[in-house]
This record gives sequence, C-alpha cells and structure tokens, in this order.
Amino acid sequence: MSAKLFDLSGRLALVTGSSRGLGNTLARGLAAAGADLVLHGRDADRVRREAAAIAGDYGVKVSTTLFDVTDRDGAARALDGVLDTVGVPDILVNNAGIQSRAPFNEIEAKNWDAVLATNLSSVFYVSQPITRRMAERGSGKVVNIGSVVTLLARQTVVPYTAAKGGVAMLSKGMAADLARFNVQVNTISPGYFASEMNTALINDPEFDAWVKARTPAQRWGDFEELVGALIFLASDASSFVSGQNIFVDGGMTSVV
Ligand code: NDP
Repeated sequence: MSAKLFDLSGRLALVTGSSRGLGNTLARGLAAAGADLVLHGRDADRVRREAAAIAGDYGVKVSTTLFDVTDRDGAARALDGVLDTVGVPDILVNNAGIQSRAPFNEIEAKNWDAVLATNLSSVFYVSQPITRRMAERGSGKVVNIGSVVTLLARQTVVPYTAAKGGVAMLSKGMAADLARFNVQVNTISPGYFASEMNTALINDPEFDAWVKARTPAQRWGDFEELVGALIFLASDASSFVSGQNIFVDGGMTSVV
C-alpha cells in the first residue's frame, strides 16, 4: 500500500525543458516511477533523440512537443495538439528557465523581459490550457520549479529573483483556485546544483568555496536528489499537499 502511494504507472507527465538539464533528469525520474511522458524542448532533433532513449531505458510511452514557452499562442497551439492526440497530462512540471546576471543598475530591459517571460509568465501560458482540462477531469498535479531565491536574494540576479519569487506565489494562487478540482500545485526550490546553467560558477573557485561554506551539506547538489521530492508531489502521496514550496538545498535556506 505505501509503495503504491508513489507509483506513477499509467500517469501521463509533461515536463517543460526536458530534453536536457534538470528537466531531463526529472522526466527520467518520473519515467522510472512508471509515468508515460511528453518530452518538451525547442531543438527537434534533440527532443526526438531523448524521447527514443527514455522510451528504451524505462519501457514507457514517450511523446514529444516543441514550442517556445514565452510564445503564448504557439504554446497553446502545441498543447492543444498534445491534449487531442496524447491526452490530458496527470502531471505538469514547469521547469524551463533561464538566467541573466548583471548588477541592478546595469540590467538591460530586454534581459529583464526575457527572464520574466521564460521563468514566470511561461508558467501561466503553459499551465492554463492543461489545468482547464485537469479541472474538467477532477484531478491533476502541477509542480513548478523555483530556486532558493524564492526566499532569499543574492547580488546580480534581480530579474531571476523577481521571477522565481513570483513562481512560488503563482503556485500558491493556483493552489487556491484549483484545489476544489482536486488539482494540487506546489513548488520545488533547488539550491545550488552542479549543472550546465552553473558551469561558470562551478569553475569560479571563489563561488565554489562560497557554495560549499554556505550549504550545511558542504557541497553542490546532484540533480538526481530532486527526483524524490518530485515523485512525492506528482503522486497520490501528496493528495492533501498544495501551495507548498519544498527547498531541496542541502539546508542552505535553513541557516544564516
Ligand atoms: P539549463 O540551462 O540546463 O536548461 C534550461 C532548459 O529550459 C532547457 O531544456 C531549455 O530548452 C529550456 N528553455 C529555456 N528557455 C526556453 C524557452 N524560451 N522555451 C522553451 N524551453 C526553454 O537549465 P537547468 O536545467 O539548470 O534549469 C532548469 C530549471 O531549474 C530552471 O527553471 C532553473 O531556474 C531551475 N534551477 C536550476 C538550478 C541549477 O542549479 N541548475 C538551481 C535552481 C533552479 P532548450 O533545450 O529548447 O533550450
């Protein structure tokens, strides 16, 4: 009974930005728990290649969809195609995101717009066509990917901080409106992970030392360590959990 709580067999999961990076690890984690997938990205070849690899590795069905998450109309068209031909996802993970670094006084408007559109507005664009159908069905799980900056700021990443802070509150707002339809919406906020997005930081000895000193676990995280929280939030195990923001950060946000 208890293991069944976390079983995703027969569920359909759509993860944005899942042909590489964290989204790919999360999609693979869901597939390992039994979920069929809709893999998403913008590079058709890479998405197709990864879909075939995941289907082979886990024996689940993997469909694909291609769209820019900042293009509301394009996303809606692509998602209509998914809803009509593949089905209504049981699980939606809004993972696609970008970073842009500059001190506040030097932020260019185009970079502000891009970070807000990709990290925050996209969650609205991608979620709404799906949560409407989840509400009709009477079940669904949405997991939005935040960051430690949903709680704490850091220099040179103001647009990202504003967007991710917005994601945590967007999740709470969605949770408030969608709970009556048995749709749970939560945020997972990763700390610092050894990833492509962070290559420059990992290679910067000063930053690397700061992360290790600032994180009680004294190390960078591994993407695989986010999968447990996702399976919890994507499964029946979290049927009465909504609007929460779970930090997977080696203790970083628990200490001063
Ligand atoms: P990567 O840069 O490795 O990957 C970003 C992903 O987002 C890619 O799959 C990319 O797709 C997709 N993406 C970006 N812009 C768009 C767009 N306009 N339309 C469609 N897809 C887009 O980043 P990570 O994997 O490291 O980060 C994933 C998420 O995790 C982000 O939300 C990030 O903020 C968050 N996060 C990451 C942390 C880390 O340590 N790495 C820490 C905290 C949070 P494509 O292949 O088409 O480019």
